[in-house]
Amino acid sequence: MAPPLMTVIGSLNMDLITCTSRVPAAGETLISQSFDTGSGGKGANQAVACARLSRIKSHQTGNVTVRLVGAVGNDNFGHDLVQGLYGDGIDTSGVQAKAGERTGAAVIIVEQQTGENRILISPNANFSLRPSDFTNLPAPLPDLIILQLEIPLDTTLQIIRIAGEHRIDVLLNPAPAQELPNWAYAAVKHLIVNESEAAIITNPKDKNPDWTKAGEHFNSIVALGAQHVIITLGARGVIYLETRQKKLWQFDAKNVEVVDTTAAGDTFVGAYAVAVMTFAKGKEDFAAAVKWANAAAAKTVERRGAQAAIPWLDEVEAYEAEPCQKPVN
Ligand code: AMP
Repeated sequence: MAPPLMTVIGSLNMDLITCTSRVPAAGETLISQSFDTGSGGKGANQAVACARLSRIKSHQTGNVTVRLVGAVGNDNFGHDLVQGLYGDGIDTSGVQAKAGERTGAAVIIVEQQTGENRILISPNANFSLRPSDFTNLPAPLPDLIILQLEIPLDTTLQIIRIAGEHRIDVLLNPAPAQELPNWAYAAVKHLIVNESEAAIITNPKDKNPDWTKAGEHFNSIVALGAQHVIITLGARGVIYLETRQKKLWQFDAKNVEVVDTTAAGDTFVGAYAVAVMTFAKGKEDFAAAVKWANAAAAKTVERRGAQAAIPWLDEVEAYEAEPCQKPVN
């Protein structure tokens, strides 16, 4: 039997990362401490997470097939990004190199003393993906579609709509956060958000709610309509709500030495998606998928970079923390 197919539709960016002792003032020129490039973009990062977490590092193929659909410019950055993805075993035939477009880029300035990042994203070719490009879904039809919000919102909404017509499950990671029409949340099966995204989409009275008490917000989360809602809480782990059976679990984060949290959320999404398509399938044991994704994301935190930090299947150690099932108000 052919392995399940996951199609990620989303962004590809070249990250341009420069470290400085301090940020230059207006009109000032400074010599930076270091400069590097790195492959990024939420769509590409999540495709890499799916590909690596479905196979042992030394193996060529894994137990899912991963396809990325997106756009780059017809330039060196685009070429390098696609080569990297190909090296990870991802089907990149759906990534168009568009003439007259530049590849998406993220300029990242890291202040050495504080570790604070300042990031400027130029979406470029990512924003050339229009709803009219998705009057039908890219063939072959996948078992799961994974979406984020780094391509135009109307395009994402069109994909959700058409996936629904084909009865294909959608996993949405609405990042960077934007408000979506209510029907869109109800049309996705899996919704993965961080704390600030959760606050934007549920609009609670308290603007900075304590999501470890997610039971108190249960009804507003159920009202969104997605069946499996996951709220990642950084160093405090993750909350998982099964909204049909009205169950709620909390998992603490794995205790690791934090080096760089870039791409932890993207690793979580990819790991969860792989688990849902493999060991959690049939049993519908999505709490186990969340637990495993929590361990995979912790591994990313121990390493520097975006795609460079994403682990392979055999690098995610067993994680013994038991889930804590919580009451729902
Ligand atoms: P975030 O996007 O910051 O909510 O993080 C996504 C996921 O990455 C979390 O749910 C954890 O699984 C993992 N993670 C993030 N930060 C840490 C940390 N400091 N220690 C362990 N795991 C982390």
